[in-house]
Amino acid sequence: MKWSLSLGRVSGIKVFIHWTFLILVSWIILQNALQGQTLEQIFWAVIFILAIFACVFLHELGHALAARHYGIQTQDITILPIGGLARLQNLPEDPKQELVVALAGPAVNVVIAACLFIMISILPFSQENFDVMTIDSRTFLYTLFFANLILALFNLIPAFPMDGGRVLRALLSFRLSWVKATRIAASVGQVLAIFFVVIGLFYNPILLLIGFFIFLGAQAEASFSEKRSLMQGFHVYDVIMKDFRTVSVEDELTDAVELLLNGQSTVFLVLEGDHVAGTLSKNEIIKALSEYGKHVKIGDVMNRQVETLSYDMPLEKAYQQFQQKRLMVMPVIENGSLMGIVDVENIHEFIMIKHAVGAEKSRSKAAEEPYHYSS
Ligand SMILES: [Zn+2]
Repeated sequence: MKWSLSLGRVSGIKVFIHWTFLILVSWIILQNALQGQTLEQIFWAVIFILAIFACVFLHELGHALAARHYGIQTQDITILPIGGLARLQNLPEDPKQELVVALAGPAVNVVIAACLFIMISILPFSQENFDVMTIDSRTFLYTLFFANLILALFNLIPAFPMDGGRVLRALLSFRLSWVKATRIAASVGQVLAIFFVVIGLFYNPILLLIGFFIFLGAQAEASFSEKRSLMQGFHVYDVIMKDFRTVSVEDELTDAVELLLNGQSTVFLVLEGDHVAGTLSKNEIIKALSEYGKHVKIGDVMNRQVETLSYDMPLEKAYQQFQQKRLMVMPVIENGSLMGIVDVENIHEFIMIKHAVGAEKSRSKAAEEPYHYSS
């Protein structure tokens, strides 16, 4: 994810922290200082927020390790001010796996809460002037205990993108097709979202935000599952364009502009000799044109990130690569030779056409879109 600082690896999974998280911590320090809190109080407020996010991280790690148990790797875990995000490389294959992976996150918070409960019962705390609303060395464990219970319960709300939404879909999938189960789970989520928004309007603006968040999450999940089901059974060779234009690293930008104006293509492969050195999309051409003028060498302004697809790769997997790498076009290479290109717009058109003819297939067995677990 952009704007993230790397914290290293845990169990081989890359861990990032989004820089906005630092703003959150600074804001807490500032808020507390403005309210005339002592240094000790500020210290505990910061320790508390760090502890919460450590719990959020462990929650994500729970999803990641449960997924690994089924042979599904996790690309990375990012800690955001609104929670955590684990990007799984595949989707769990059957409802039972999805159920276990979805429940693993909240289960971690339940375990942490249980450990804290034991610690609280054993440690000799003085009950004098005990106020859970101010965090200090005595109330810290109590507050963290409640925070973990809330994390577990909140994530079990049966609505996408919460874990509870996935739990609901998994339970429905035991009986229904995956697409149908997603649709029902998404609708349940949206009804809940509207409920949150209405309650939020009258009582609490945070609920309002949560409501919008759930509504959009449910919509995204439904459209994603629809796309996946439409791509199923198709391969890169179904969408490959064998008739495509190339430019050379030595060409000037104006040559690409010519091609753009005179033809149908909006993305080009940039060749250096006979190998693909980069790509150039319409937007990149326009941007480079305004920044460097039309006589700049294409080799200096092209997108150097080149990812290749293979001819018989499943379409879902190819689409997943486009999304992960944020590329517009990829060359298809088979046995070392360039077979053609796939442009992300082709895939979108393909999906639209399939959608129009109503080609719907049943649940996928091996979908490989990154699967976002948020908490
Ligand atoms: Zn979760």
